[in-house]
Amino acid sequence: MKFTMPVRMFTGTDCVAQHADDIASFGKKCLIVTGASSAKKSGALDDAVSALTSRGVSYVIFDKIGPNPLLTACIEAGKLASEVGAEFVLGIGGGSPLDAARAAAVFAANPGMDEEGLYSLKWAVKPLPIVLIGTTAGTGSEVTTVSVLTDSKGRKHSVSDPRLFAALSLGDPKYTRSMPLSVTLSTGIDAFCHSAESYLSRKADPFSKAASAESIRLLYRPLMKAIAGETLTDRDRADLYDASILGGVAISVTGTCMPHNVGYFLTEKKGLPHGTACAMLFESMADIIRERNGEKWNEFLKDTGFTTDEILNLVRGSIRGVSFPLTQEEIETVLPRWENNKSVKNTLGDITTEDIRGALMKFAK
Ligand code: NAP
Ligand code: FE
Repeated sequence: MKFTMPVRMFTGTDCVAQHADDIASFGKKCLIVTGASSAKKSGALDDAVSALTSRGVSYVIFDKIGPNPLLTACIEAGKLASEVGAEFVLGIGGGSPLDAARAAAVFAANPGMDEEGLYSLKWAVKPLPIVLIGTTAGTGSEVTTVSVLTDSKGRKHSVSDPRLFAALSLGDPKYTRSMPLSVTLSTGIDAFCHSAESYLSRKADPFSKAASAESIRLLYRPLMKAIAGETLTDRDRADLYDASILGGVAISVTGTCMPHNVGYFLTEKKGLPHGTACAMLFESMADIIRERNGEKWNEFLKDTGFTTDEILNLVRGSIRGVSFPLTQEEIETVLPRWENNKSVKNTLGDITTEDIRGALMKFAK
């Protein structure tokens, strides 16, 4: 086994107030990085501001991070952090603001660095300390080293480095109450895809499998409730949130697989929410693995405690009614992208470009 998990992570009710001293330990001034409104709507921003002000920490807010965050916005946030003399970066939101906070911390410490500099990983100065507060139960970004950004070519392009681990991450499941059902489903199925893809990766090991199998056991029932339109209890939300963190732990070891990488294309070109896009590809991957690596698929079922039908019903339910036009020409143009792709190669089943063509053709009009 090989794993590094240096994040101090706390989940639970009122964990932000309870860890005010820990947050304040990173300095006297911080840059808060958020999306347009979820930090406020969820109550997380108010709690963070109370924790900061109660300990005499001043802050400046950068709230211009959209879904699938633009790298240029991270440069802007980093510039603001260095101009105001921020000593740490506090990201609040779903995966988008959290990933953006990570990149902003790099740009803040390295003024003048451009896009290429970020992706080269040749950072002269280490990023400012990163503190994260999650408001979705999905990406597990709170515990990963990954920042998925939209580059200047409009491509989702991730940067990953151990220096991007948060120093402290906090997640109070009550912040997820304000998510609309569509966001609960797209983020919840993202957590499922992390855990299932991780389990079905060539890189899976006993540590990552323990995290991914427990993640799926925790998220299955509440996510099925959400799919059925039932109201989630606070216990359900806590389970979903913890499951998302375990999914993040699992992909920190293995990375993600084919559904995530091909899903990026559906998000870029068709605007599908990230988790929904991954879920659209999941069944094709599952079919291939069942056919070519049946024993591994059966091990996955045994460890999670679900049947193939139960797993596929969860995935299908989360994307019910989602449709988008995809032309054969679009498919042919994009396919070379996955020749020699690392995430695809890490997937069990020896998935080929031909297999990906088949998976995408299911959506062809
Ligand atoms: P998100 O893009 O952060 O948020 C999606 C939408 O939900 C936004 O409109 C957001 O509003 C809203 N929202 C978030 N929390 C809410 C709440 N508590 N109440 C009401 N609305 C809320 O979604 P995400 O799925 O969490 O993150 C997706 C991004 O993470 C993608 O770019 C994906 O590629 C990346 N990702 C990263 C990792 C990793 O390891 N780092 C793993 C998987 C995916 P606001 O815009 O106002 O915030
Ligand atoms: Fe994801």
